[in-house]
Amino acid sequence: MLNEIMDSEINKLIDLEEKRQKNTIGLIASENIVSPQVREATGSVLTHKYAEGYPGKRYYGGNQIIDEIETMAIERVCKLFGTKFANVQPHAGSQANMAVYFALMEYGDKFLGLDLSHGGHLTHGSPVNFSGKIYRPIHYQVNKEGWLDYNEIEKIAKKEKPKLIQCGYTACPRTIDFKRFKEIADSVDAYLMADVAHTAGLIAGKAFPSPVGYADAITFTTHKTLRGPRGAVMLWDNEELEKKMRMAVFPGLQGGPMENVIAAKAVCFYEAMQPEFKEYAKQVVKNARTLAEELMSLGFKLITEGTDSHLILIDLHNKEITGKEAQNWLETAGIVCNKNTVPYDDKSPFVTSGIRFGTPIVTTRGMKESEMKMIADWVNKIIESKGENSEKIKKEVEEFAGKWPLFA
Ligand SMILES: *Cc1c(COP(=O)(O)O)cnc(C)c1O
Repeated sequence: MLNEIMDSEINKLIDLEEKRQKNTIGLIASENIVSPQVREATGSVLTHKYAEGYPGKRYYGGNQIIDEIETMAIERVCKLFGTKFANVQPHAGSQANMAVYFALMEYGDKFLGLDLSHGGHLTHGSPVNFSGKIYRPIHYQVNKEGWLDYNEIEKIAKKEKPKLIQCGYTACPRTIDFKRFKEIADSVDAYLMADVAHTAGLIAGKAFPSPVGYADAITFTTHKTLRGPRGAVMLWDNEELEKKMRMAVFPGLQGGPMENVIAAKAVCFYEAMQPEFKEYAKQVVKNARTLAEELMSLGFKLITEGTDSHLILIDLHNKEITGKEAQNWLETAGIVCNKNTVPYDDKSPFVTSGIRFGTPIVTTRGMKESEMKMIADWVNKIIESKGENSEKIKKEVEEFAGKWPLFA
């Protein structure tokens, strides 16, 4: 009885959420839509199994098949990115970052990362996050135009001598010079960590530079541009770090790994090795560039005046509206994005002067350049009318979006 009620209640909500995803234009840069195969693995019987430990060294019986699956996931991700070692167990990007800190730093050690309000992540040393409580974070910023200033980063590194330097961001639209970062890290004897959560899929698809060969530790989520299940991975090459990186995840901070998710990661790595995925990654960037150019031609100001990736950051100062207002008006019309601080923002993170767009979802759904132009046009009309015509545009958006499959 209880099961029936719960099933019908939750199932109704899942159906509604599926409709919402189908009938809106998803522009959240950190989201994507997975293949039916990834979803099937995530919902498989593997969710029943406890497998504390690692392949060949488990604390529970019955793990022969699980071991094969996890080994396959490790082999595939190492092949995909070209590294020697991988840990596929982190439940999320935050845990992967935490594990790298546990492995490479001691309590109270200094590390250097990008300011959260400039495009860093909570785990890059925010005072409300563990990373800002148990370590001593120092932050670099982007310049007034939104670009990384490597000379400035080098200056801070030489002065502060951090144990670890971090690159990889949530709201920086441009490529990263990983070689330059490695030179800076080497010059002060620091580890270089690349948190490429946002761009992992573009890196796998050869549409964005790779930190492999430069960073001592690489982390990324599997659910953003890489188009896999919710979760994360750590990669590294140095044999000497192997034990530390392994122990940091288990027994350091997690118990049983989610083997259903690890199987889904393995499926996603396989998909990312296919030629179609290269096409996908290329199209994600093409779509973002088209959307960026179109928005600029309509009078929007973009941080760094464009993008090299899937991500666009719009500075709304010249429109005299806040990111919060823009997000709400767009959402009323069925265009889903997030408000985001811009570098040197004068407003709080709850209000902000910017919005962030990304093209992973719309590209997965099969949209190309001409659809990006339509989206830019809708965004412009909604913002120029200060939300007045959101309700009217909602009908057009719904009709348009509903025609595209979730996973093309
Ligand atoms: C998304 C993201 C994370 C965290 O991922 P979660 O899975 O939400 O914990 C960490 N770092 C960066 C740069 C990210 O973009």
